Amino acid sequence: MSYVFGPVPSRRLGNSLGINLTPLKTCNYSCIYCQLGKTTNFTNKRMEYFPTEEIIEELKHSIEHSELSIDYITFVGDGEPTLHNGIGKIINWIRKNYKDEFKIAVVTNGSLLYDKKVRNELLNADLILPSIDASDEKKFRLINRPIFNIEYEKIIEGLRIFAKEFKGEIWIEIMLMKDINDSKEDIEKIAEIIKSIDPLPNKVFINTPVRPPVEKWVGIPSKKSLNYAEKIIPNAVSISYREEGEFDVSRYKNSLEAILDITEKHPLRLEQVEKIISHFEENTKDVLNALANFIRIVEYDNQKYLIKKN
Ligand code: SF4
Repeated sequence: MSYVFGPVPSRRLGNSLGINLTPLKTCNYSCIYCQLGKTTNFTNKRMEYFPTEEIIEELKHSIEHSELSIDYITFVGDGEPTLHNGIGKIINWIRKNYKDEFKIAVVTNGSLLYDKKVRNELLNADLILPSIDASDEKKFRLINRPIFNIEYEKIIEGLRIFAKEFKGEIWIEIMLMKDINDSKEDIEKIAEIIKSIDPLPNKVFINTPVRPPVEKWVGIPSKKSLNYAEKIIPNAVSISYREEGEFDVSRYKNSLEAILDITEKHPLRLEQVEKIISHFEENTKDVLNALANFIRIVEYDNQKYLIKKN
């Protein structure tokens, strides 16, 4: 079983060594923009989805054998990482063994931050990246489609409490989508929610669905909406562009293995796939033929993407 991947180039985190803590699409949300497909394990249960000790062993091996430098060790992957009840133990292990050699980031939907136990488990990280996409409860249900017993106000309150307790940085991520949450009113309401967090989040990233979303009707907002959001939301930065940089594929035996593993977590543009194939000096046509049963090719925003079939 492979729990650790990369380092992969990240738009915000440089070279990021990823840790996946859940089976594919284990989440308490089913967001309309998710790039991993529909949520198949829809749950709010915290448990040890994969053995914590095995994850730590694999992480140690990946750190010691990485050919690229690592900027961040990032909890991100096939579902919501805070659903794994060993996340605190893994964070503390990294901190104890590597001190400040790498930064530790957790990409989360933020839904469990109302739980004191989860907040405590995240305190030793350097950076938490929670999502805020909705202007109110109704939009929350439309966009994030949470499991029935999660309430939006409770989540925002959890984030407000966490912001006071946490010594690291908080970077909020907003997914702005055409005709869904990009109206003037929606953007102003989201700005008010951000302003109610004290201290203010260090950064607020305005993202757009640059990779193929699960729902075909999700689209990229206008430049005007993006500019307005950047103007009125405190500490806002737009990251509405594609990531550049190379994937570290040194741990794979061939391009087939590399592409299948990376697309498990991350749709790849055709040009990125071609780069990986040329790294192994293999034939593009042969590899694409071998991938045909496992991968679908999706056209989105004038790009071809390879996505792993569920
Ligand atoms: S919270 Fe993340 S993993 Fe879960 S459905 Fe939303 S985008 Fe996908």
